[in-house]
Amino acid sequence: MNQTTMSAVRWHGRGDVRYETVPRASSPGPGEIRVHVAWCGLCGSDVHEYLHGPFQVPVQPHPTTKQSAPITLGHEISGWVDAIGPRVSGLRHGDLVVLNALLPCERCAPCGRGEVHLCTALGHLGMSADGGLAGFVTVPAAMAVPVPSHVPSEVAALAEPFAVAVHMVRQAAAARGPRAVVVGAGAIGLATALLLRAEGTEVRLVDVAGLRLAHARELGFAAGKPEDDHGSWPLVFECSGAEGGLSLAVGLGEPGGLLVLAGLPAAPARVDAAAIVLRELRLVGSMSHLVEPDLRPAVDFLAAHPGEAARLITGRVPLADAVSGGLDVLAGPDRGRHAKVLVRVGARD
Ligand SMILES: [Zn+2]
Ligand SMILES: [Zn+2]
Repeated sequence: MNQTTMSAVRWHGRGDVRYETVPRASSPGPGEIRVHVAWCGLCGSDVHEYLHGPFQVPVQPHPTTKQSAPITLGHEISGWVDAIGPRVSGLRHGDLVVLNALLPCERCAPCGRGEVHLCTALGHLGMSADGGLAGFVTVPAAMAVPVPSHVPSEVAALAEPFAVAVHMVRQAAAARGPRAVVVGAGAIGLATALLLRAEGTEVRLVDVAGLRLAHARELGFAAGKPEDDHGSWPLVFECSGAEGGLSLAVGLGEPGGLLVLAGLPAAPARVDAAAIVLRELRLVGSMSHLVEPDLRPAVDFLAAHPGEAARLITGRVPLADAVSGGLDVLAGPDRGRHAKVLVRVGARD
């Protein structure tokens, strides 16, 4: 490895993700920074792309990012500012930062309204542009949020999933009652539960996997399997994306209840529409996150609760083992053991 190359984990095709040497991420242009990656979390969407893709990885050049496969995966990134391009203010060399994962077109109607997460030609870091499973990544400086120095770099790598959870909780702002049930006790479900509890909400988690339920209970939450009696709830978060997740969420909603949906099922979900009508349930989607209203509060939460957040980390693997020790594990029979597996890239702590 020299000054012009770096290691990267790149998606080449379905079932074909390679650890290889590539040219180092480019020097930052105007308005850009280059980040020396510390840690990068593995996400269900990475596993989905690995096993069944391409979904988000473009085979033809992406309309916004202009990139196509092979592409470096990884969108849950913490790292240090390594180089700063012209016309960037507020960041210094060596600052620990986390990155927003969205690359909007800046031209469509949602972008014009500031709803860049709903962009009609949305690009994603680590899917349609080279991401953080690499020594370095070059991004618009506006994607970076600085992290207070007392937050460990591995905890900072949880900022993206926590930002997704912050966005979900914001989507529920109209809900009644200080009680909520979360379907799916993976990283997003647990992050959502931690945020809700910090606000004083009573939270219960539901999951099919005994190990995930045990993890939720270790974190102090009531938790049970779908077939258990959970009662009914004014606020339901669907974070599982599992085949039966939406149907379960509908069953848990009390009359007038609000369901916030963030799980992405692989196929259209069957649901009892009559139950939605008869109980006047309200359903709202929740798509990723924004920088100011979501990622910044997520960093604030991590800074206030670093020890609690760190308990979501269930595995750490070096970059060279990101496929065999990371994606393959999360695709295999032991996936129920894990909430968040982090890939160690440049971190030494
Ligand atoms: Zn993710
Ligand atoms: Zn757009």
